[in-house]
Amino acid sequence: MTNLPMNIQENISLLPFNTFGIDKKARFFVQAKTEEDVKAALLKSKELKIPVFVLGGGSNILLTKDIDALVIKIEIQGIQVLKDNEDEILVEVGAGENWHQFVMFCIENNWAGVENLSLIPGTVGASPMQNIGAYGVEIKEVFHHLKAINRQTLEEEIFDWEACKFGYRESVFKNELKDQFIIVRVIFRLRKKPVLHVAYGAIKQTLEEMGISNPGIKNISDAVIQIRQSKLPDPKQIGNAGSFFKNPTIPKEQFEALKAEFPEIPSFPMEEGVKVPAAWLIEKAGWKGKTFGKIGVHKFQPLVLVNYGGADGTEIQDLSRKIQESVQHKFGILLQPEVNFI
Ligand SMILES: Cc1cc2nc3c(=O)[nH]c(=O)nc-3n(C[C@H](O)[C@H](O)[C@H](O)COP(=O)(O)OP(=O)(O)OC[C@H]3O[C@@H](n4cnc5c(N)ncnc54)[C@H](O)[C@@H]3O)c2cc1C
Repeated sequence: MTNLPMNIQENISLLPFNTFGIDKKARFFVQAKTEEDVKAALLKSKELKIPVFVLGGGSNILLTKDIDALVIKIEIQGIQVLKDNEDEILVEVGAGENWHQFVMFCIENNWAGVENLSLIPGTVGASPMQNIGAYGVEIKEVFHHLKAINRQTLEEEIFDWEACKFGYRESVFKNELKDQFIIVRVIFRLRKKPVLHVAYGAIKQTLEEMGISNPGIKNISDAVIQIRQSKLPDPKQIGNAGSFFKNPTIPKEQFEALKAEFPEIPSFPMEEGVKVPAAWLIEKAGWKGKTFGKIGVHKFQPLVLVNYGGADGTEIQDLSRKIQESVQHKFGILLQPEVNFI
């Protein structure tokens, strides 16, 4: 193709741009560093009559084929304080900022609220997409509003907390408004006086081991980082996209029946039923640590499927289907993927 503006590249490998380490191609690829770049890329896609695919850090996607579209990689930077009083900070963050670096910036400034979300890969712009969460905290707890460009009209629109319809690893952008908006800025409300969340997972125990009895947000972040590094594979070494499946919530009656058969089944009561850890189900179905050629189920965290190098996305997709089938057969529960299949 000739006359490609704004550094649109053709047929480029997405290997460096996805944490699963899958080597698929983008037909067209452009880096958007400003809102204007995003709009120009959307216009170009209309002119060329090709679809658009929005890419952040590529840490929640599984590429099963080449992307026959214009891939717009969101690289909008900038952290700007909008409001600052003795209780809280309102801060606007470019969608292309790295999530973990933003968390570290908050901790350096003593802004509380995101410390439990340390070391989650990806960009700030993708964080509301699935309402990222870890160690008892989700971003909906610190989210204020976001700015997104309507892919049809190219107008910038504002979504407040209600409009995002956050749920467990869900938002309106994965459902009713799927593929309709590109998030360009996210505004968070952070606290000057921290409310600490230490009850979840091994945080308390890790803080004790670290000899910390009166923790602050930096200590919580350090503990979370330590736990995550001990349990989760680093995508730089072993390709993966974190938790492959969501934790299912099942009706109370179904849970009681399962508990009669598997008395040790872990559970968390929810309003809508009982949440069961997908990792436990996968482990009990016999998958933990299994390796199949270039791919496998991680040895410490069975919720994480891994690419040891050179795998095709379809191999991982097939493995995920086999896991789904076997968990459904054993427990009558259909696991839903958290990862986006492309
Ligand atoms: C080791 C590891 C650990 C992880 N741990 C966690 C965890 O604890 N909790 C958790 O919630 N997640 C976790 N994840 C998943 C992942 O980090 C998050 O989902 C993250 O928010 C994805 O960000 P990204 O920029 O990489 O998104 P991408 O993978 O690039 O994109 C994900 C989806 O969002 C869309 N998208 C991306 N940016 C935008 C935008 N600006 N506007 C509109 N659409 C957009 C994409 O089209 C795609 O559909 C983990 C992943 C890894 C590899």
